[in-house]
Amino acid sequence: MGSVPETRGGVPPRGVARASGPLASLPGDAPADPSTLRSHNLGIVMRMLRDHHTLTRKDIERATGMVPASVTNLVADLADRGLVRDQRAGAGEPRGRGRPRITVEQVPDRCLGLAVRIERERLTAELHSSAGLLLDSASRTVSHGWGQPGDVADEIAALIARAVLLAAEHEGVLISCTVTVPGPVGSDARIADTLEFGWGHLDLVGLVRAAGAPEAVRIEVVNDSSAAALAEHWALPRPRPGVMLYVETGAGPLLGGGIIADGRILSGGRGYGGEIGHITVDWRGRSCACGAIGCVSTYVGPDALLASARLTELAHTAGRATALDELRARLDRGEKRAVDVALRAGDILGAALRSAYDVVNPGTVVLGGYLASLRRWLEPGIHMQLAPRSERLAPVVIESGRLGRRAGLVGAARHGLQPLFDDPTIVPSLRMEAGTAPRAGAVGNRG
Ligand SMILES: [Zn+2]
Repeated sequence: MGSVPETRGGVPPRGVARASGPLASLPGDAPADPSTLRSHNLGIVMRMLRDHHTLTRKDIERATGMVPASVTNLVADLADRGLVRDQRAGAGEPRGRGRPRITVEQVPDRCLGLAVRIERERLTAELHSSAGLLLDSASRTVSHGWGQPGDVADEIAALIARAVLLAAEHEGVLISCTVTVPGPVGSDARIADTLEFGWGHLDLVGLVRAAGAPEAVRIEVVNDSSAAALAEHWALPRPRPGVMLYVETGAGPLLGGGIIADGRILSGGRGYGGEIGHITVDWRGRSCACGAIGCVSTYVGPDALLASARLTELAHTAGRATALDELRARLDRGEKRAVDVALRAGDILGAALRSAYDVVNPGTVVLGGYLASLRRWLEPGIHMQLAPRSERLAPVVIESGRLGRRAGLVGAARHGLQPLFDDPTIVPSLRMEAGTAPRAGAVGNRG
């Protein structure tokens, strides 16, 4: 399939914000080691280009406080790695005064990230470039769910092999493969709980490696809602909040959640954090599939809502999505039971969000999946619950997710490509590049 720009348009140079993160010119924060400092500064330039698409060298100087020679040198280094290129601005425009404006932009398809989503009966993959292009996508349905985890690992290894070939066609490198699963994933990248598939604890990365995936491609597994949260954070208007809470439903019976802090997934020291759907709202309440009692998912998750709205039967016969559509239709018609159910759900979800507010103090809460379509009815309860804290301390903005079902894949690709923006030297110089692989070990899996 063709290239589809995920984001469009540049930002006027005057609107260039100061680069975030510690800068070389600021005392105290910058790394002391010269090569680390260089990687750090190259990363700053790459992140600026990710945010603003095109910039002049002058824009970079102004935003970072670096001297012109340093900026020229850093851009030359990135160009040498094939990561950026010069663009003569104003092609097709009437000739302006003075010299033509030269801007710098990312080479659109030099670095690629593969995103793979595993669901109970489907595998979906998208190949993204670091500049936000969708280069390829694939989807496969399995009729009776996955058998052995090795079957999925083989599929993923085949997708990686295909992506490596596609990357080579584009004279690019595949940096990463990020797999999302609908369950908790530990910081050791092991899937902790595969109730969805019946696999038990699983080292999926190890299986994919054993199936032949090259060492040079970093492979990681992340929770699907956390990946979606990352994409939705990126989709927010700037300035984006420092901390964002995300709560959604996908295809499953429970609520998924994620926390984004400083532009990254915050999953805590052991990896299992960010599960907003399992915040307790009633310690003597209903049993949750996670093993705990009284989780917010057991009241506001899709199955719970459908049961309260007396739509369980329809969900069984026509599917959960159809039943949720029917709930929405009843809400639109103002049917009392449906409205009562949705308003109460807002109160309960608000109680959970207030707990999260007091722990991570978000600037924005994003409602994804069907929660976005119920926002009108959920929002009064959420605001009422949050008000005692948010009105006295700091306000919270409630937003709807903008990316829908694709959020998880977009976020997974973005997560996998982050190492490039932390340290662009993981990509070798074009002159040094013997094959298609990035520097050995530099982008390999941590584990
Ligand atoms: Zn739970």
